[in-house]
Amino acid sequence: MNPYEMACYQLERAAEIAGVKEDVVEYLKVPDRAVEVKVPVRMDDGSINVFTGYRVQHCGVRGPYKGGIRYHPNVTMDEVKALAMWMTWKCAVVNIPYGGGKGGVRVDVKMLSRSEIERLTRRFTAMLTPFIGPERDIPAPDMYTDEQIMAWMMDTYSVYQGYSVPGIVTGKPVSLGGSLGRTSATGRGVAIITRESAKSIGMDIKDADIAIQGFGNVGYWTAKTLFEMGANIVAVSDSRGGVYSEEGMNPDELLEFKRRTGSVVGFTDNIISNEDLLTMKVDILIPAAIENVINASNMSKINARMVVEAANGPIVPKAEEYLNKKCELVVPDILANAGGVVVSYFEWVQDLERYFWDLDRVNAELEKILVKAFERMINVKKEYGNILWRDATMVLALNSVVEALKMRGIFP
Ligand code: GLU
Repeated sequence: MNPYEMACYQLERAAEIAGVKEDVVEYLKVPDRAVEVKVPVRMDDGSINVFTGYRVQHCGVRGPYKGGIRYHPNVTMDEVKALAMWMTWKCAVVNIPYGGGKGGVRVDVKMLSRSEIERLTRRFTAMLTPFIGPERDIPAPDMYTDEQIMAWMMDTYSVYQGYSVPGIVTGKPVSLGGSLGRTSATGRGVAIITRESAKSIGMDIKDADIAIQGFGNVGYWTAKTLFEMGANIVAVSDSRGGVYSEEGMNPDELLEFKRRTGSVVGFTDNIISNEDLLTMKVDILIPAAIENVINASNMSKINARMVVEAANGPIVPKAEEYLNKKCELVVPDILANAGGVVVSYFEWVQDLERYFWDLDRVNAELEKILVKAFERMINVKKEYGNILWRDATMVLALNSVVEALKMRGIFP
């Protein structure tokens, strides 16, 4: 099952529970718009390399499209379609006025120089300019894209318009109208939802042993915020492997080590593989890297009381079905990692108003929105007869999208 088939499967399940009609489900499976663009780049050696870029706008009934741009060698149209659909649900779950979007370029950025990445970003933005805009579709960072890339996107778009348009992207540097707290927001959100979820099964976050797969922006901030809440970070990994420590590790020291050596591997003598990390006996397992990491081949070896999806789509449906019997809880991505897009929304609001918030306000409003979304999900779960968390979260999102669609109607 590829990510898009997986997203359609989740939609069908939720639609059945919520009693959404077949024609509406078919409408929601197909994105509003999907563009594929050619991204030619002049390489440092003078040759031309042609990359393929995508932007998918899934469903705009609740507002402009919103979602990240990823640079990864495995990006495909089906993956971007799935990720865009997940963004529609994510924005509805936290009740912010956006529809889902996603984009990406099929590229291994580790093979490119900084100036090649800049030219790739600027050309990709130019190719997308007819389709994006602060009222239309607002990109943001995702895998292997960061605030520098957002700054280049903002600059390129602004040059075309003839004036600065900070609201074109979120996740920008603060000096260009970015929001305080945006970089930490996804990880902070994962930690807040993890804390609330743990509480609901009678687990105190302070006593919890936690393993985190992926030590990029999301993995680091998840680890850091949970560490500050008193949790024990016993294992972390990145693309090169992982490390374990029974007493727990300080995420800032891990980050410092990774900056110096390129990886977390070697931070302790206890070196493990990514697979070891996933199957370790812990209270909470947090996959924070990529799709499809918990699948039929390793599901029976998962040994955590609770799994929290910080990445988008890390558990395939077959494995989730298995985990639902074996673990106490599986916390779905569209709730667990929604903190990023929530603070993106705050950033966009600040850009449109040209009035900027302090960090305390950003974090306090993030906490408020996430705790409320969590409560709304629990209410839906009860209302529909104690359904699974993924289904409850999906039903919550679907009901809100379907209601908006009903009120707007189909044109003409
Ligand atoms: N790429 C992030 C996500 O998957 C953030 C999207 C955004 O902030 O628009 O949720």
